[in-house]
Amino acid sequence: MNPPPPFIVGNWKMNGLASSLDEARRLKSALEESPVRARVAICPPATLIAAAADILAGSAVEVGGQDCRPQAEGAFTGDISPEMLADAGARLVILGHSERRAGYGETDADVAAKTLGALRAGLEPIICVGESRAQRDAGLELRVVIGQVTGSAPPELAGRRFAVAYEPIWAIGSGDTPTLADIETVHRAIRATLEDRFGQPGREAPILYGGSVKPDNAAALLTARHVSGALVGGASLKADEFLAIIRAA
Ligand code: PEP
Repeated sequence: MNPPPPFIVGNWKMNGLASSLDEARRLKSALEESPVRARVAICPPATLIAAAADILAGSAVEVGGQDCRPQAEGAFTGDISPEMLADAGARLVILGHSERRAGYGETDADVAAKTLGALRAGLEPIICVGESRAQRDAGLELRVVIGQVTGSAPPELAGRRFAVAYEPIWAIGSGDTPTLADIETVHRAIRATLEDRFGQPGREAPILYGGSVKPDNAAALLTARHVSGALVGGASLKADEFLAIIRAA
């Protein structure tokens, strides 16, 4: 049996105006000219999701959101619901990114509630976990990450399509990455936790690595055992750089 295709997801964060959609157009035409085995998605800011989904319709590139609220609708000024993301053309959603956990005090229970909302709307959740520098220095990374997976991934994920992204906080945007051996250790622990919780679907859910993935380190990072793909921040903003990562996968 062929291994599943690597899953490469770009997180644009709070970057991108309408003019940035040219990057999505470039991505689309490059992958049409020269297709890849990888599964590819971009998660632009909410303001660009509908336009990106239009541009990328029928292409090999899926579109996702970067966050959502658990509820379908209501008096939640400034928030976006899973149904709204799906209605705009998103197929997946990043949840529990460390920038949201740190900046908005999102707990594992919040992420689990958002995950249920995403499932209700038919979105594929990508649940982010990862330890801080201080936690790694104290040797707590496995305890932290397993705790986050257990608390953030509700039982309702069984039988549904989902992914987990391991993103050590200290590696995000810093240029630092863990060693391959350290990545393998954490990914193996995440896989074991998912298998325990979800059985077969837990064996199949992609586990992405995220944190300073660049064209020059992507091939090596993606060969680490138990790494099923990458969640890419800064290097996903320019189509050329993102394509180099996609082609390295
Ligand atoms: C991220 O924030 O999801 C991320 C991986 O960022 P970067 O690739 O810029 O480290």
